[in-house]
Amino acid sequence: MKDKRPSSGDFTVGVDIGGTTIKAAAVSADGAVSHETVIPSRAEEGPEAVLTQATEAVRRVMGGRRSGGGRCAGVGIGIPGIVSANDGLVRYPPNFTGWSEVDVSGELSRRTGEKVLTENDANAAALGEARFGAGVEHPDFIFVIWGTGVGGGLILDGKIFRGPGGGAGEIGHVTIDRGGPPCNCGNSGCVEAYIGQKYLSQRTAKLISGPGARYPGSVMTELVEGDLSRLDPEVISRAAERGDEAATRVLTDAGAMLGVALASVVNVVDIPTAVIGGGVSAAPAFVFNAAADEMRSRVLRPHRGAVAVKRALLGNRAGVVGAASLLL
Ligand SMILES: [Zn+2]
Repeated sequence: MKDKRPSSGDFTVGVDIGGTTIKAAAVSADGAVSHETVIPSRAEEGPEAVLTQATEAVRRVMGGRRSGGGRCAGVGIGIPGIVSANDGLVRYPPNFTGWSEVDVSGELSRRTGEKVLTENDANAAALGEARFGAGVEHPDFIFVIWGTGVGGGLILDGKIFRGPGGGAGEIGHVTIDRGGPPCNCGNSGCVEAYIGQKYLSQRTAKLISGPGARYPGSVMTELVEGDLSRLDPEVISRAAERGDEAATRVLTDAGAMLGVALASVVNVVDIPTAVIGGGVSAAPAFVFNAAADEMRSRVLRPHRGAVAVKRALLGNRAGVVGAASLLL
């Protein structure tokens, strides 16, 4: 997407609240992004600090955008955790200190004077892809956000499917191995426990370093300057892009494991299109092909011809564009 700076017209402020930073930007009706700002979220200081920072981010964007003309149509917020469709409460976002239930929309609306809608961040990113990215041609798709963790969202008929409790789409916590390793969610053998950052990094480190390493000459050692704790999905993806064998092995296996879970989803909901976003969306095509091959081998026969795994298109703007999409 091009960075356009229109001088007039309505805009929506998209705010992506993460555990480390808050990103915000003005998004116009055609999805063009301007006046991006990034500030610390101060999540470790509790909800009040986060709300103060989010308010400041909105003010900065509106101040910049209004100077060029245009009317603010409201504020869309994406945040981790389960967001109830009924009362808009944000419940227990992971990695946020001191949160139980917080009325983010109500608080931000009171502080900014704008209409505010809040949504789970993965659901918001899915909606962004539906409106302006890889999902434009697909009214129904499964969205996967694959980075530190593995989140997701379901888009049905162009809209977010939340489920009665607001928790639908969590593909990262589909069990793919009953006897598998423990997951952050308390279950074991989840997709996230196999392809989330922690697992991928540990598996990669074992393959490239120490006694018995199968790929001791990996370019990844160079990319992280010898500090293997810095291995993350983006580094592994970059190495794979350069043809690194270890990175290719790890990502092919991970893609196939994701494909196992996606196949089950397809068999349940009959939606054969998946869109993959997050850090791994920059990975080479073979990762997406590995997921698609695995899906095809596991879905019921009538679905096989329709299986498609696509790369998300909004990149690091998915959060703000998705949040703004709540009002667009
Ligand atoms: Zn889990």
